[in-house]
Amino acid sequence: MSYRFPGPFENLVKQLSGLPGIGGKTAQRLAFYILSMPDDKASQLAGAITDAKSKMKYCSVCGNLTESDPCSICSDESRDRTTICVVEQARDVAALERTREYNGLYHVLHGAISPMDGIGPDDINLKQLIIRLQNSDVKEVILATNPTIEGEATAMYAARLIKPSGIRVTRIAHGIPVGGDLEYTDEVTLSKAMDGRRDL
Ligand SMILES: [Zn+2]
Repeated sequence: MSYRFPGPFENLVKQLSGLPGIGGKTAQRLAFYILSMPDDKASQLAGAITDAKSKMKYCSVCGNLTESDPCSICSDESRDRTTICVVEQARDVAALERTREYNGLYHVLHGAISPMDGIGPDDINLKQLIIRLQNSDVKEVILATNPTIEGEATAMYAARLIKPSGIRVTRIAHGIPVGGDLEYTDEVTLSKAMDGRRDL
């Protein structure tokens, strides 16, 4: 019979290996590390998980992750209320905010349409966006879903729903990454870059 770790250790490894990007070996290494931590440090880690899980929620307006509802972006009067940027996940909001280039509002879909996985338009936070646009000052909706099959399908679907209202619908450009090399860029990215070209 092979060696088995005691139950509590085995359970910790199991919980950690359920996290994205954490394989069995990494989970085991993390479990050993956590057990080597001083008691108060380990408690802080466990406490931070429980605390974040109980205090963080999704903004009832935009779907962003927040402690207060509406979130700080929705309630910030200095932001441009005529533009909404639609993203798939709350982490995309964080990524766009880091650029400091955008000063409008957001709408988080919490996913993308994926018929293969049985995810339809009603399974993502899309209806809320359409309701939000009604009687609003919004003049432009930027579709910033991922450049994947699901993200493109979601953008197309959302554009079809929004366009009849007369609101301008735009899609973020996809193309060659900064520092990239044409020669090593795949043909899908390259053709998207050609499609998204603009006047200089
Ligand atoms: Zn919000």
